Amino acid sequence: MKAMVLNKICSLNENRNPLKLVNLPDPIPGEKDILVKIYACGVCHTELDEIEGRTPPPHLPLVPGHQVIGRVEKSGSNAGNFQMGDRIGIAWIYSACGRCKFCLEGNENLCSHFTATGRDVNGGYAQYIAVPEGFVFRIPEIFSDAEAAPLLCAGAIGYRSLQLTGIKDGQNLGLAGFGASAHLVMKMAHHKYPNSNVFVFARSEKERSFARELGAVWAGNTEDVPPEKLDCIIDTTPVWKTVVEALKNLENGGRLVINAIRKEEVDKEYLLRLEYSTHLWLEKEIKSVANVSRSDVSEFLKLAAEIPIKPEVQEFALEEANRALVELKEGKIRGAKVLRIDNW
Ligand SMILES: [Zn+2]
Ligand SMILES: [Zn+2]
Repeated sequence: MKAMVLNKICSLNENRNPLKLVNLPDPIPGEKDILVKIYACGVCHTELDEIEGRTPPPHLPLVPGHQVIGRVEKSGSNAGNFQMGDRIGIAWIYSACGRCKFCLEGNENLCSHFTATGRDVNGGYAQYIAVPEGFVFRIPEIFSDAEAAPLLCAGAIGYRSLQLTGIKDGQNLGLAGFGASAHLVMKMAHHKYPNSNVFVFARSEKERSFARELGAVWAGNTEDVPPEKLDCIIDTTPVWKTVVEALKNLENGGRLVINAIRKEEVDKEYLLRLEYSTHLWLEKEIKSVANVSRSDVSEFLKLAAEIPIKPEVQEFALEEANRALVELKEGKIRGAKVLRIDNW
C-alpha cells in the first residue's frame, strides 16, 4: 500500500517535506482486528507536534493520522461485528487494556496501556489500516467521508472537555482560545444547554467577531474581565497566561478545564501572578483533559448528526500531506484539512 511515513523528527521550518511517500506491505489484521480501506484522513495540529518532536512518537518510522474514515475490507478470524464495506471511523483511541480500573469504569482514556492511532501505531495517512474491531465507530449517514474525518478529533475531545466542566443548563461557560475545538464546543453548548451564555477570550479581533457571529454573548481579549462571573471555562491554548486570567474570572466553586496536550515554557513566569485569594480561594478547581474514550467519540458523532455540525473541509491528495501540514502550521486555514485517499 501507499503511505506517507515519518522517518525523522524535524522542524517544518527547515524541512517542508518531513513525510515520505513509500510502499509498505498491507497490514495483516489480528484475530480480533478488521482491515480497513481508508478513504479520508483528517490533518491535525497533533501531527505537527509529533513531527516537530514536542510530543514525539515512541518509535519511527511511523504513519501519522488519527481521524480516519474507511470501509471494512476484511475481518480477523475472531472478529464479527462488521460486514465487508461497512463505513467506519477510527479516532485517537486505538486501544486500551479493557481490564484496569479506568477501563472498567469507562475512563479508558486514562488507561496506562492506552495507545493512540498514528502515534503509538501506524495511522491513517495510508491506503489501509488494521484496527481492533472494538475501537471503531459507525459514521452517521449525513456526513460525507471528508466531513466526518475532522469530527473524530477536535469534536470528540471538545465533547469530553464540555462534559468535564460539569456545566448545568443556565450556567455561564467561558472559552479561552477560539480554534477548531472551541467552535465545536460552542455549537454543542448552544444545543445541549440552550439557557447558558457563552463568553469567549481570544487574542485577535477577527476571532472575537467570529465568536460573536456564532452566538457568544461577549468576546474579549485574554486579560479582559467579562461582565459576569463564569461557572466554567475551557482553555484550549498552549500558554499559561490564559490559566491565570481564567481563574480570575471563575465563579466561586467554578471549574477550569484545560484542553491542551501540552503547555509551552515561553510564558511560564506568568504563573507567578497567581494569588491564592484571587485565583484559587472559594473552591475553584482546575482539571485537564486527556485523550478520548470510545463513548466520547460515539456520543459526539450522534450529537453532531443531530445538531447538525458539518465542518467545512479543504481536501488534499495523500501525496500532498506535507503541503497540508505546512499550511496548517502557517495558519492558512480554510476549513479543516482532510487527505482524500482514492488512488487505487
Ligand atoms: Zn487530533
Ligand atoms: Zn486499561
